[in-house]
Amino acid sequence: MANRMLKFVELERAMPEKRAIDTRRQDFGEIYEEYDAEAANAQASRCSQCGVPFCQVHCPLHNNIPDWLMLTAEGRLQEAYELSQATNNFPEICGRICPQDRLCEGNCVIEQAGHGTVTIGSVEKYITDTAWEKGWVQPVRPVSERQQSVGIIGAGPAGLAAAEQLRRKGYQAHVYDRYDRVGGLMIYGIPNFKLEKEVVERRSDLLRRSGVKFHLGSDIGGAASFADLRGRHDALLIATGVYKARDIRLPGAGLQNVFAAMDFLTASNRKGLGDAVPDFDDGILNAGGKNVVVIGGGDTAMDCVRTAVRQGARSVRCLYRRDRRNMPGSQREVANAEEEGVEFIWLSAPEAFLGDARVEAVRAQRVHLGMPDATGRQTPQVIEGSSFTLEADMVIKALGFDPEDLPQLFDTPGLEVTRWGTVKTDFTTLMTSLDGVFAAGDIVRGASLVVWAVRDGRDAAEQIHRYLQNQAAAAAVAAE
Ligand SMILES: Cc1cc2nc3c(=O)[nH]c(=O)nc-3n(C[C@H](O)[C@H](O)[C@H](O)COP(=O)(O)OP(=O)(O)OC[C@H]3O[C@@H](n4cnc5c(N)ncnc54)[C@H](O)[C@@H]3O)c2cc1C
Ligand code: SF4
Repeated sequence: MANRMLKFVELERAMPEKRAIDTRRQDFGEIYEEYDAEAANAQASRCSQCGVPFCQVHCPLHNNIPDWLMLTAEGRLQEAYELSQATNNFPEICGRICPQDRLCEGNCVIEQAGHGTVTIGSVEKYITDTAWEKGWVQPVRPVSERQQSVGIIGAGPAGLAAAEQLRRKGYQAHVYDRYDRVGGLMIYGIPNFKLEKEVVERRSDLLRRSGVKFHLGSDIGGAASFADLRGRHDALLIATGVYKARDIRLPGAGLQNVFAAMDFLTASNRKGLGDAVPDFDDGILNAGGKNVVVIGGGDTAMDCVRTAVRQGARSVRCLYRRDRRNMPGSQREVANAEEEGVEFIWLSAPEAFLGDARVEAVRAQRVHLGMPDATGRQTPQVIEGSSFTLEADMVIKALGFDPEDLPQLFDTPGLEVTRWGTVKTDFTTLMTSLDGVFAAGDIVRGASLVVWAVRDGRDAAEQIHRYLQNQAAAAAVAAE
């Protein structure tokens, strides 16, 4: 213990002076690469067509990656696009923001052999962006219209993928969202530098042209009732995501300029979309010129640090209680953030926020990783007497999200949830404990990824189709 303490005292002394961010810099690296035909062809040609498509297995949508790479390499781009969009409603979005290092690319056989992965995501993005340019992306035109209607609560990727799949089968799809725009976290959570908002908006326009009806500003459980919605449609899909920010109860948590991540990111995204955002314009939610401390180590924390850098923060530090190896965020994003000047302070946990009215500093403590807990993760343990202080004019809490209490919000106690508050669904039918009510996306699996939400939305649409066919058949029999 004494040795360990000594090591931390040395580490503390050795801690570098706060690094200033070069705010004149404009050439920040993004997480995806911009390809032209030559680059896409060169990458696609690297696929060895190995016959053991681990990339496809590890893609949640089981995209037929080897075949669309081969078609790209042969210059048959329209066919590549048709194949890629057959399993994915938003290939250009996944190509930009999937953590490919943990999914398809991390399992590429060439990567495993040490020669660097085929950059699958960037090729996927190139194929679909080209398809948009060439006019190959067209609205859904069902062969015949059905009278049955489905109400979808939530216009995030799970709800939108389900809506498009249901329109393909001719159902009337009505999407309700409390926000004023379509896209869920793709519009107000994920920053523009990772996913340009025009890319999300052209998808919402396409869905409108496909006959999906959007009811924006509809807060189900607030002004609009869940029971009314259930009465209005033949089936419902709950795709509301998870929005209750995890909080830290520490001295000084109520000081001014201590913000939740979504408040910071939403203000920044709204500003980028051209909305009036008084709290940003008067400087409160703008990191420009400030010493920013972000608490957390997930993808949301990475988005906060990188947004703060782009807003011109004087310094950006990220405080995380585990080490680099154990952080949940994408390693690629950490590397990008470091390159942009963000300083990571690993194995450290906040102890108090200091200041009079506004936050002026964060007092933190060193942590070491102890024995693994029931989940197998090593438990962070505070090292007594290891406190240190970081100057901060703005603190952003990015500690993850939990589900809202949906049975209470929807005034439907019969809606069963797990002990984590996520909605319980049957493994096969994806139906909740309420007849004709299905659920998909983060509200079922907890905070996850866009690609999984798309997968869940597609699966839910398939199960809703089966349910409605059975309902129609039963009604026909009863009428005889
Ligand atoms: C900051 C941030 C960055 C992320 N970055 C990435 C990334 O780079 N890559 C990636 O793959 N994933 C990322 N994710 C995760 C990804 O965004 C989510 O997993 C995905 O959006 C979940 O989709 P969803 O459709 O289930 O829910 P959401 O996208 O959350 O959409 C749910 C929708 O339901 C609406 N809603 C909720 N309650 C109600 C109600 N009562 N009435 C009406 N409407 C309601 C909400 O307004 C929202 O529009 C990120 C998440 C965050 C927070
Ligand atoms: S959807 Fe995501 S995981 Fe699947 S191929 Fe595309 S980038 Fe890879």
